[in-house]
Amino acid sequence: MKEDMIKKIVHEAEKSVRRAIAPYSEFQAGAALVTEKGKIYTGCTIENSSLMLSVCAENVALTKALSEGEKKFQAMAIACGTKEYCFPCGSCRQLLWEFAGNIDLILCGRKGIKKYALSELLPHAFSK
Ligand code: ZN
Repeated sequence: MKEDMIKKIVHEAEKSVRRAIAPYSEFQAGAALVTEKGKIYTGCTIENSSLMLSVCAENVALTKALSEGEKKFQAMAIACGTKEYCFPCGSCRQLLWEFAGNIDLILCGRKGIKKYALSELLPHAFSK
């Protein structure tokens, strides 16, 4: 993926952090998923009082894209405004694997970005 697209999705993920609704955990995350054709879908943490129905930023971005008919993806940037890199939870790794395949994950931290293939973060993935 081109450097300018990486910068763009990192910027979009960081912007999405500010839209997070996380009054319970106060852990705010943002994600930006880019399709094969370069369209970007963003997501942010959305918590509610049941907690069980809370949704991760990665899940929101993926769900938005899938609901618009998107099927092929290049990468996702994930930001959470913390010093450390923000890794996706296990559920999101599985969701991304199933619907986006072995995309690149760009993790954003204050020291810069780190890039992984999803398969590095989900070895021996469960799939049909
Ligand atoms: Zn998650």
